[in-house]
Amino acid sequence: MPDPAETPRRTPVTDQKPTADLDELTVDLDLAHVFHSWSAQGGGRTPFVLAGGLGTRVWDHFGTTYLDFSSQLVNLNIGHQHPAVVRAIVEQAGLLATVAPATANLTRGQAASRIVARAPDGFHKVFFTNGGADANENAIRLARLHTGRDKILSTYRSYHGNTGAAIVATGDWRRVPNEFARGHAHFFGPYLYRSDFWATTPEQECERALRHLERVIVSEGPSGIAAVLLETIPGTAGVLLPPPGYLPGVRALCDRYGILLILDEVMAGFGRTGSWLALDLYDVVPDLITFAKGVNSGYVPAGGVIIPDSIANDFDTTVFPGGLTYSGHPLAMAAIVAALDAMESEGIVDNAARIGRDVLAPGLAELAERHPIIGEVRGVGVFWALELVADRATREPVGAAVMAKIKAELLARGLLPFLAENRIHVVPPCVVTDAEAAEALSIYEEVLSLL
Ligand code: PLP
Repeated sequence: MPDPAETPRRTPVTDQKPTADLDELTVDLDLAHVFHSWSAQGGGRTPFVLAGGLGTRVWDHFGTTYLDFSSQLVNLNIGHQHPAVVRAIVEQAGLLATVAPATANLTRGQAASRIVARAPDGFHKVFFTNGGADANENAIRLARLHTGRDKILSTYRSYHGNTGAAIVATGDWRRVPNEFARGHAHFFGPYLYRSDFWATTPEQECERALRHLERVIVSEGPSGIAAVLLETIPGTAGVLLPPPGYLPGVRALCDRYGILLILDEVMAGFGRTGSWLALDLYDVVPDLITFAKGVNSGYVPAGGVIIPDSIANDFDTTVFPGGLTYSGHPLAMAAIVAALDAMESEGIVDNAARIGRDVLAPGLAELAERHPIIGEVRGVGVFWALELVADRATREPVGAAVMAKIKAELLARGLLPFLAENRIHVVPPCVVTDAEAAEALSIYEEVLSLL
């Protein structure tokens, strides 16, 4: 583990002094007063304390540093404490710290113009939200209003957010029990490693997944279906890169039945795949695009829907019944402008592509050669998953005890991981350097050697 004092990036950006007392205080306050999401609140919880960060590194109050290979919740594309983004937020706060959504504001217009510049032709409007879930809520609402239909189809292996319609659209375990459920149906997307279609090649998986989707559309009744909602690359579900032809095939099915296609780019968008939007990697143009996370790396919460003229024009004379007090918040907008400008001028998206191609792809493939526990390596850019199995022949996933050990050993060696089910997601910020990626690969190597 690097000595914090000798890590050049350790230069504090705040005046916090490393002290054990602050770590203890943080733990005490957290246990006493913070009600956490997605976890039991009771005894035995050991809060993981973070006090500061810079680039790909974070540290606690002791000054112990970690390589952040989680990007927090896979949102920190530009890395921690990017100075231009921090400065832009401070400057905007000095000028106008809040403004109602209906007001025209220069920073908001600038943020929207930079976002549509990255979208396919014909997308000229952005509806701002506070994050990814409400981006999907509003995309669903737009689709329902545009088509006059109700049902939304999405895949079982998906996560679209934890609010009303977004959690029902979600296909993983988190959608049940659910008091919001109405107007949704699920289908299986492609996942060759654990194929639901008895496929053995990407071509077969693609063809059979499309045939399955068409059967679901026909069975659910096309005239009642407003949209198919898909993560361009399902992320939390395991970085499931769609096989070539799948997304264009879904597009063709949507066209055949008059259904809209919504692509959720909340996790995959704005640099994570080494391209501006993940849909750039596939030959597909959706009807609506949702985004959040990487657009400003979550420095101030923001998300939204990118809307083509064909749908935006519906609301020339009628009101779109959406919006929250903080939609298009000026601090979030300033962070978007600064983040996207820095990503452009510093070549951060290209860096993600290069690190993925030249360091992570070969490095993770080598790990898989040495460690039979790795059943499959898949990914692109700085968006990778190692699927861990007890037996390569049966592909039986490793259990929770193995994953708990991996987590503890990675943390002990100074790597903050993102783990999901039986997978290690390798998801550093897009600014990760060659040396940091190499350091992480050697930590993964060491930990896998213990198993
Ligand atoms: N969509 C996708 C693909 C996500 O990965 C997430 C969050 O992880 C969301 C939507 C929800 O975003 P938020 O947590 O900002 O509401």
